[in-house]
Amino acid sequence: PQRDAGTAAVAAVENVAARIEAEREHLTDLDSAIGDADHGGNMARGWQAAADAVSDLEDPDIETVVKTAGKTLLSEVGGASGPLYGGSLVFASAELEDGLTAESAVAFAETYLEKVQDRGDASVGDKTMVDALVPAVHTFKKSVETDDLHPLEALAKAVAAAEHGVSFTVPIRAAKGRASYLGWRSVGHQDPGATSTLYIMEELLATAADH
Ligand code: ADP
Ligand code: MG
Ligand code: MG
Repeated sequence: PQRDAGTAAVAAVENVAARIEAEREHLTDLDSAIGDADHGGNMARGWQAAADAVSDLEDPDIETVVKTAGKTLLSEVGGASGPLYGGSLVFASAELEDGLTAESAVAFAETYLEKVQDRGDASVGDKTMVDALVPAVHTFKKSVETDDLHPLEALAKAVAAAEHGVSFTVPIRAAKGRASYLGWRSVGHQDPGATSTLYIMEELLATAADH
């Protein structure tokens, strides 16, 4: 089963790369409003490199795929989002060393969020990717552990929670990252990193549903 999860993980990275490329301009537009207009380019370049790197792996297990994608993002993407996405993927990939199960998926999600918050020091309400991640991870964990939902259903609920989190970033003022330099002028704009986090999660769900 571990090898199948590895194959699915490669497909997930490829699907994320394609989706981010399709959303490149939109992400750039969002970052032009409250940042420096590089989020679309940063993410598209990084995920394309990650897709290339993981497709070169021979018979990879899921931990190796996620770690390789993270390392590639770390080396290809600068700015705030490179270390946040890349470093957290590398760190959380260790939770998948025994393969993909509902339990290891929850552990992966929690460790990923923990690392993003360790590194970035952002909380809910700071108008960052954390606003999408926190509700998503909590919903995923609760759906698996308390509601005993199938992991796919749990992931679908997590995506819906992330979507709400993205909408929540619009009316609030940025307190972390570049957008915070704008102060109140950041109000009324959707956060680019929360948005890319949602797209990534949507592709994870689509890929998981397909495998
Ligand atoms: P940069 O701001 O360095 O140009 P990007 O444009 O690639 O980097 O990424 C910006 C996104 O990074 C923001 O929209 C936000 O979601 C996320 N971000 C910035 N700072 C933090 C932080 N301290 N914690 C969590 N996420 C952050
Ligand atoms: Mg930027
Ligand atoms: Mg930048």
